[in-house]
Amino acid sequence: MTSFDDVGDLEEIKRGIRLSIIYPLKRPDLYELYKRGIKSSILLYGPPGCGKTLLARATAGEVDASFSNIKIPDLVSKWYGETDRNIQRIFKEARKNAPSILFFDEVDGIGSHKDVEHHERRILDTFLTELDGFEDRGDVMILAATNAPWNIDPALMRPGRFDKLFFVPPPDYRARMEIFRIHLRGRPVADDCDLKELAKLTENYSGADIREVCDEAALFPLEEAIKGKPSRCISMDDLLKAVKRVKPSLPYWHRIAKFRITERRMEDFFPEIFEYSQKLEKIRISGYI
Ligand code: ATP
Repeated sequence: MTSFDDVGDLEEIKRGIRLSIIYPLKRPDLYELYKRGIKSSILLYGPPGCGKTLLARATAGEVDASFSNIKIPDLVSKWYGETDRNIQRIFKEARKNAPSILFFDEVDGIGSHKDVEHHERRILDTFLTELDGFEDRGDVMILAATNAPWNIDPALMRPGRFDKLFFVPPPDYRARMEIFRIHLRGRPVADDCDLKELAKLTENYSGADIREVCDEAALFPLEEAIKGKPSRCISMDDLLKAVKRVKPSLPYWHRIAKFRITERRMEDFFPEIFEYSQKLEKIRISGYI
């Protein structure tokens, strides 16, 4: 079962999730004592592959809750015509299997501020009604995610709708080291593997890119062993070769993010994304990427 130990860094977000979702389930008495209402819904936004889904799955693991991963675009296309009933069914099932974590991915696909189709509007309305119905939701906790926050319908961003909004950032140097450690854990790894050096070489790599580097590196000794050589550990050399093969995915997302945020004049709403994109731009201009 996935837990917070499988998620590198992101300590502030883990703390927020503990306070909004985990402790209310474990110690409702304390929330009652301090008259801190329980409103367990969190929106995670940020670049792809940096841990949003992983965090949601790990949250379910931490409280031994059932976990449903619902992609909003699937809802919109698949259930045309009977959307209300299906959204209600999702929440009803979750109540039945409580404690439950409902994870709604790609929430920018619902509503949105452009002209929306009638049935999409209805999905949004039903979704908002369920989101607002906290009193009778029992121990059903909501996590939602998007990597296009500039597309989210303003109705969803309104204060009070989600208990907390968290930017899940690209991993920095320390986080990358930790993510390498997590993904090399349990594999045979040679003593010469230098996580500091790997973290230095993987600026602009997402967590998913780093996992791919580790998977790719493992293929070298694995292939040799299949061909009959004695099995050996993954070496630093394997990892360095893998880093060269796997290209960082974050610059592409940041370029789009900056374009969209500027186009919609939303720089004030997403300063973290905007500043990071500008930093990347400077690096690119000086010829590094
Ligand atoms: P998307 O927006 O595309 O859905 P996401 O932010 O939900 O992306 P995840 O699915 O959580 O990304 O990450 C993909 C994989 O990358 C994870 O299953 C995990 O293996 C690895 N990964 C990403 N971030 C981390 C992290 N912080 N620690 C450890 N592994 C990570």
